[in-house]
Amino acid sequence: MINRGYAPTNKPSDTLVIHCVDHRFQEAFKEFITNEMGIAVFNPVVIAGGAFAVSSEHLSRYSYIWDQIDFFVTAGGVKRVVLINHGDCKWYIKENPDLEISDLKEKGKTDLARAANNVREKYPGIEVVSVWSELSGDSIRFQRIA
Ligand SMILES: [Zn+2]
Repeated sequence: MINRGYAPTNKPSDTLVIHCVDHRFQEAFKEFITNEMGIAVFNPVVIAGGAFAVSSEHLSRYSYIWDQIDFFVTAGGVKRVVLINHGDCKWYIKENPDLEISDLKEKGKTDLARAANNVREKYPGIEVVSVWSELSGDSIRFQRIA
């Protein structure tokens, strides 16, 4: 039995954030979402490759992710979906062994756009924000993608 109590967050959230599992990026993702985007409370969907799972070419493989998005949009009051992909993603490297690093970056950005379109098509009233992130020296930089 653990004696210490941990406080739940009792504030509502209207945002679902889909991003990669990669441990190097977790703190930066949270800080960016909270501090730069001004979203204090969000529902994270953490899956290897992030937007990879909701991009067009993987729809059937990751149908369970859509079940979860459906649930949060219909029952959880989600009005905004934030998609974040990142450079040097081990999942993208595993899934695309023949691509060069520069091509992986383009693929990650392309998948972000495809994933955003998929979410917009399925949920026309939902705001979708796409964000690219990458290591730059000792820090992680973020870029909103139109
Ligand atoms: Zn990754």
